[in-house]
Amino acid sequence: LGENERMNKQRVKEFLEALGCSQIQVNAQSDWVKAACPLAAWTHEGGADRNPSFGVKATDDSGGVPTYHCFACGSSGTLPKLLHNIQMFSGEHNKEAADILSSEELGDDGEHGDSKAETRKRKVISKDKWAKLERDRKRRNVPVPETILQKFPLVTGLDDWRSETIVSYMREDRKIKESLIDDYQLRVYQDPIRQHVGIIFPIYNREGTQVMDMYVRMIHAKSFFRLNARLTDSKVNYQAPNLWFGNQFYDPERPLILVEGAFDVLRLRTLGVTANLWAAMGNVSDDQIDKIHARTIYLAFDADSTGKGYMKKVAEKVEAPARYVLRWDIVDKKDPGELRNLDEFKTVFANRFKLERPIKPTNPPKPKFRKPNLTIDPFDI
Ligand SMILES: [Zn+2]
Repeated sequence: LGENERMNKQRVKEFLEALGCSQIQVNAQSDWVKAACPLAAWTHEGGADRNPSFGVKATDDSGGVPTYHCFACGSSGTLPKLLHNIQMFSGEHNKEAADILSSEELGDDGEHGDSKAETRKRKVISKDKWAKLERDRKRRNVPVPETILQKFPLVTGLDDWRSETIVSYMREDRKIKESLIDDYQLRVYQDPIRQHVGIIFPIYNREGTQVMDMYVRMIHAKSFFRLNARLTDSKVNYQAPNLWFGNQFYDPERPLILVEGAFDVLRLRTLGVTANLWAAMGNVSDDQIDKIHARTIYLAFDADSTGKGYMKKVAEKVEAPARYVLRWDIVDKKDPGELRNLDEFKTVFANRFKLERPIKPTNPPKPKFRKPNLTIDPFDI
């Protein structure tokens, strides 16, 4: 596919107009066509995006397809996915926008790293074998190239308003000890639409020698997203499917506390919790669960239905001699990032729930008598 055949900025503009976007801006110096977020009615607080925080990246040197990203609500993906979501939310078919997309070469919503060689292989190997290879490829950890990393300076390596914004946000708003910014090697992000600042939370390999993936939390918009290869213009499709935020500090002598987000890890560390602290950074995946080999684990996800789902999933899959659930709602909090002091943590810890191992005998013996079941269901939040 030649450069001219790819969806250019003018066509992207027409597509966004068909979607009814306001404030569309095409800039000769930028690959991004900016606009007010067309998902704002459903995904933004107040239902509006007054300053454009949304953009479509029109060209892609790595041969990929145009993708959209909103730095306010954090949603991202391909243009067919965007149209699909808008049609799903609004319940209305948009023929004009669909016609523009169908005349363009946009690929599917999968990863853009598939090479021609791999496509050719598909013909000579069996379907099952292919599926396994495909699975293995997706599971493989691929580091972020050094050239990409250099675009995102360490917070501690900068001395300007961006690093000051991050440091003061961490200290004042999140009550996080400043030295942890260096310990966890947090980096600076600036979005290409409005130049707003975000914090990059790097995922390291277990040895702590390489950055394998990156996640961004925008400070003012509060959006959270994976800083993937499309957003960084990386030709290498880096990924860390089975790693956790904080796993580089693992000490096998200490128990392991599993949480959802980076702020949970950093707040618990600030309070003086010395256990291993790992954050899933989004969905807890099967591959991440496979990497858990601690003797004592504490499931400490958020006190909401999502967190409850993660606890069930991990509890079903991880065998450990001792397994507990920590419930933040005991001290009236949603997650450990909200804890005010160490006493609140101690209260939650003192009230931890022990998980019994699930017993699944093929022929369960008939019980002679039934014990009264007085156990509190730890998932019943
Ligand atoms: Zn948005």
